[in-house]
Amino acid sequence: MLAISDLHVAYGGTQAVDGVDLRIEKGRTVLLIGANGAGKSSLINAVIGLVRAARGLISFEGRDIGGLSSDARARLGIGYSPEGRRVFPTMSVKDNVLAGAVRLPGREQGRCWDRMVATFPFLAERQAQAAGELSGGQQQLVAIARAMSGGPKLLLLDEPFLGLAPVWIQQISAAVRQMQEEGLTVLMTEQMARPALKIAHDGHVMRAGRIRRSGTTAEIRGAALAEEYL
Ligand code: ATP
Repeated sequence: MLAISDLHVAYGGTQAVDGVDLRIEKGRTVLLIGANGAGKSSLINAVIGLVRAARGLISFEGRDIGGLSSDARARLGIGYSPEGRRVFPTMSVKDNVLAGAVRLPGREQGRCWDRMVATFPFLAERQAQAAGELSGGQQQLVAIARAMSGGPKLLLLDEPFLGLAPVWIQQISAAVRQMQEEGLTVLMTEQMARPALKIAHDGHVMRAGRIRRSGTTAEIRGAALAEEYL
C-alpha cells in the first residue's frame, strides 16, 4: 500500500530523515518508535506532503505521490492526525470532525458523523461546542476523529497518545482496532511505546533519521521499550 525508498528530509543543514526504506502492506499497523528528534514526524509529514523530500520515492497504491499536494494525497485516501492536538479552535466539534470528510457527498458525511459518534460518544454531547474549549485529551480525539472520518485507506497518526490519560488512550486504541478489522492500514509514531505496541503489528526503531531496527512488534518489543527510556 505504501512504499518509501531512500527518503531524505532536510531542514537547512539538519538531516531529519536520512535514507529510509519502508514498505507497508495493506491491513498492517506499523509503529515508528524513537526519541524526540529521531525524525518520526518528518517522515510522516513527507508522506502527507507537508514537507518536501530532498530525495527518495513515496508511492501509495503503486502511484508516485511525491509531487502531489497534501489535499490531493488526502483525496487518494490518506488520513492524517498531526502531533499536538491540532484542531480548528473556533470551529464546532462537529465541523472539525467533518473537515476530514469534505470530499464526500452530504449524505455520506451524515453517515461519517454517525460512525464517529458511535466510536467516540463524547462527540455527540459536545458537537456544537468550539473545539478550542475542550480539554487536551478531547481535542486529540477530535483530531483523530477528523483523520478517520473520511474513511481513509491509510491513516497517519503522529504521536496519538502523547500526554493522554489512559481512558483516552483506550478509546483511541479501540477505534483503531475496529478500523483494523475493516482493513485499514496505519502508520503511527510514538515515543511512548507501551500502549502503541498493543495495537501495532510491525515496528521500526528510529534514531537520528535512520531506521535502526525492524520487525514484528513481538520482535522489537525489547528494543522499543529500552528506547522509551533513553
Ligand atoms: P518529535 O517527537 O519531537 O516530533 P521526531 O522524531 O518526530 O521528534 P522530527 O520532528 O522529525 O523528529 O525532527 C527531526 C530533526 O529535524 C530534529 O533534529 C529536529 O530538530 C529537526 N526539525 C524538525 N522540524 C524542523 C523544522 N521545521 N525546521 C528545522 N529543523 C527541524
